[in-house]
Amino acid sequence: MKAPQRRHIENDVSPERERLEPDEVRSIRADCAQALEQGARRLVECSPPRVGSGAVRFARNGPTLYLGLLGQAFGFLHLHERSGKSEQLELAEAYLEGTARAIERASFPPPEQWLSFHATSSWSAIAAVVQHLMGDPVASERHLANYRKLAMAAANPDYPSEDLLWGRGGFLFGAAFLRARLGADSIGAELITPALDAMIATGRRLASKHAHELTPGPNGKTPLLYMNYNASLMDHFAGAIIGSRVAFTQWIARLGAKAVAAHESWSLDLSHRYDLSLVHGLPGNLYLMMQYPDWLNTHPDSKRDIVASLDCLTDYLDAEHGMLELLPSPRSDASQKRRRSGRFTERVHWCGGTPGMVFVFSRAFTIFGHARYLEAAQRAADHVWKHGLVCKGNGICHGIAGNGYAFLALYRATNDERARDRALHFAKQSLSERVVRQQRPPDRPWSLYEGAMGTLCFYADCLDPMNARFPGFEV
Ligand SMILES: [Zn+2]
Repeated sequence: MKAPQRRHIENDVSPERERLEPDEVRSIRADCAQALEQGARRLVECSPPRVGSGAVRFARNGPTLYLGLLGQAFGFLHLHERSGKSEQLELAEAYLEGTARAIERASFPPPEQWLSFHATSSWSAIAAVVQHLMGDPVASERHLANYRKLAMAAANPDYPSEDLLWGRGGFLFGAAFLRARLGADSIGAELITPALDAMIATGRRLASKHAHELTPGPNGKTPLLYMNYNASLMDHFAGAIIGSRVAFTQWIARLGAKAVAAHESWSLDLSHRYDLSLVHGLPGNLYLMMQYPDWLNTHPDSKRDIVASLDCLTDYLDAEHGMLELLPSPRSDASQKRRRSGRFTERVHWCGGTPGMVFVFSRAFTIFGHARYLEAAQRAADHVWKHGLVCKGNGICHGIAGNGYAFLALYRATNDERARDRALHFAKQSLSERVVRQQRPPDRPWSLYEGAMGTLCFYADCLDPMNARFPGFEV
């Protein structure tokens, strides 16, 4: 029988060495700074802003934020925000130009038609910030106006996806990102409130239909529930919404073989796809709604349901096994088998699994102040500490850097230096020969979410942990 593939590398830091001495902190930061400088140079050489004429180059880079050129634009903007270096801002602009050409070449629908921040809709949001920083308020406002156009689709109760990667959540992240940099008036409450209300309405509708199917924990049935919509379902509904189905189909097809396969096997049978992953399910949407405290305070019913859903989520966070994800899997045979086999301990990724819960409950503790959320965040962080040196590489989506960011989120929420030290340990381990030797190379080694761009952002944030932000998720 084939041996199961190893998912994580042992964390060999003993409890006595967990807290770092000041000179160790300085030494790790010096290593991060060096890796950052060398890595950024190499990244521009290997993933240049200009899209080559060959199809191979195009397919490799693509225009998306998650894996492609737009991610490099976002990453260099992130690095510029940390360092203030003008060449990094210029690189962000160059990658934006490269992305614009890639989008044109691909005959994609205009970016403003899509809520997915992690595909191309974020182009105008990033461009608005870059032009603002470059001192061109007219260009900034023009891009901002394009991003505001998304609000209509985001308010549509029938928009087919709520999540951060594909749907309404992407718009809400982009709006929060812009408001944090360009002021609250840049995307006014009148544009955001309908999207938040629609997200709540969908969550209640799905919970009223399906929450009874879940194995209830001590906190009972969740009042909100979300579904993992696949790309092909998006194709069906989004095409109907904007009247451009053919264009969207082409767009999906160009995203890669995986999306094409999903398109060809399109099915409306999405039962049992209720989702507790960060990027597609309930936790991520709760996190995004908690980005808007003013809305929470003026919508007590929504706030009540968000708090109750957070409480239910704690029922699925197991100290030994980490986060249980796909629902109603707790009762299914496959799920029971996985639990018995201990595979739950292996799902330790930002995108899906325990690290995401550190972000959600750290945020919940900051917003609501309940000790039970702090306890949940710490429980999740302890799990990440034990199992978070994953073999999938040093990226942020499902790699060591993303897991390190979880500790930084807890550090900002609590000021607990142990969390900061754990992040620095993960940075150090990600650079160590022992760990690198045991990792598998990511499919997109230079990308923001799987590859070096995200890792460089993590190293930059380790230099200034109190201002760290997970790129494309924390604002
Ligand atoms: Zn991932």
